[in-house]
Amino acid sequence: MPESSRWLVIGGGVMGLQVATDLIDRGQQVTIAEAAPTMGGLTSAWQLGDVTWDRFYHVTLTSDTVLRDLLRRLDLESQMQWVETKTGFYSGGRLHSMSNTAEFLKFPPLNWIEKLRLGGTIFYASKIRNWRRLEKLTVEQWLRRWSGNGVFEKIWHPLLQAKLGEAYKQTSAAFIWAHTARMYKARRSGMKTEMFGYVPGGYANILTRWVDWLRQHGATTMASSPVHKVVTHTEGGLRVEFGDGRSEVYDNVISTIASPQIAQQVPELDESEKQRHRGIRYLGVVCASMLMQRPISPYYVTNITDTWVPLTAVIEMSTIVDSQSQLGGKHLVYLPKYLPDDHDGLNESDEDYREKCLSTLEKMYDHFSRDQVLDFKIARTKYVAALSTVDYSTRLPRIVTNVPGFYALNSAHIVKGNLNVNETISLGTEKFTQEVWPDYLSRMEASAGQTLHQYLK
Ligand SMILES: Cc1cc2nc3c(=O)[nH]c(=O)nc-3n(C[C@H](O)[C@H](O)[C@H](O)COP(=O)(O)OP(=O)(O)OC[C@H]3O[C@@H](n4cnc5c(N)ncnc54)[C@H](O)[C@@H]3O)c2cc1C
Repeated sequence: MPESSRWLVIGGGVMGLQVATDLIDRGQQVTIAEAAPTMGGLTSAWQLGDVTWDRFYHVTLTSDTVLRDLLRRLDLESQMQWVETKTGFYSGGRLHSMSNTAEFLKFPPLNWIEKLRLGGTIFYASKIRNWRRLEKLTVEQWLRRWSGNGVFEKIWHPLLQAKLGEAYKQTSAAFIWAHTARMYKARRSGMKTEMFGYVPGGYANILTRWVDWLRQHGATTMASSPVHKVVTHTEGGLRVEFGDGRSEVYDNVISTIASPQIAQQVPELDESEKQRHRGIRYLGVVCASMLMQRPISPYYVTNITDTWVPLTAVIEMSTIVDSQSQLGGKHLVYLPKYLPDDHDGLNESDEDYREKCLSTLEKMYDHFSRDQVLDFKIARTKYVAALSTVDYSTRLPRIVTNVPGFYALNSAHIVKGNLNVNETISLGTEKFTQEVWPDYLSRMEASAGQTLHQYLK
């Protein structure tokens, strides 16, 4: 084990916390700088009425083994609650259950041949291992080929539009493959039931335990500490400038924030690297959390194929999270709209988005009334997930950069999965072990060699 160095991890989302955990496991001195007032990034929680729950909806799959190992380490895995869920579709002005094979076979918008082709496409996608081949095709080319034009127009096109807007045209087939493979894993077998899990107390509970663990093992956490700039320090190491004008020197820095922000943060990065960071397009989201007296839907996710609906989906969180023990007897619904990072809709006012959501729900659900809404809050973020465009993996920026000691390791490096916590922390550990740590060790070795050489001279 080399001597302990001072590391700064920029970003206190799950990627930052995972990298900090890996550094602590290797005996390093770690500080985490997070711009927001609390750690957790996209997984952080907020208060809705008298309920504290995630700002964005989160579920865990039984197949999320790396996340479950982490929860075991934090003594939380045994508390997990696993629930069978149902999926709905809003299509042709009606709600349909699509939770098992029998319901799929009854799904009215599609004829028999179309159902066969849709089922076949999903099954085939779940069996594909060589995802790189899929990166060469647009998602539209691939889906039209396997599902046919009818299924594409009736199902895939509206779903892709709802999730990606016009950006679906540049998105590769790897996107649908990763998504399908994850959802397929959630089902015990074939088109049978889905099992989703959560930790009581939600991510707020996980984050408290995780951050406590890090602090107990020597990490320093700095919230409300946005990093503005990272530059090489004349006397060695990297000088980090914070938003409040402070600056500090670290031996190494790992930035886990979104790629366009990394390009801005590190002026000494090669121009070609900056271009790669800037070239990554992201999907953002506007997501309302609505606390209700009564549930509105029996489905965890209601996918929407009717194009007049301005939402990506309706998520009834209380089909999974126990209302009595976790939500004070109330019900929690999320209303997300995903949009490309340059879309004006990400800046829509809270009042307009709220009105849009409520009037849409009034049309979709006969029993819904605004009087049942106890609290309504809107979260938005420009950088959720890097868009997996055609040939995406060939255009990724490097993790080990031209600036010695500065590493750029973020979720944009997920190339064979969709964005979720399990994938993010698995990638964090994998890339840390394969790229960051070996580079650090070879730099240490080189500098030890130089010192010895000078000593012997
Ligand atoms: C609507 C929605 C639904 C989701 N559903 C699920 C789900 O069901 N299951 C699941 O497993 N995953 C889900 N996810 C994905 C999951 O939240 C992400 O995979 C994960 O949180 C990504 O973590 P990250 O650390 O890479 O990024 P982030 O959480 O974005 O962390 C980056 C951090 O960097 C900070 N930062 C930015 N700039 C600076 C700066 N200059 N200085 C210091 N700090 C800075 C940010 O404030 C942020 O905290 C969902 C996400 C969303 C948005």
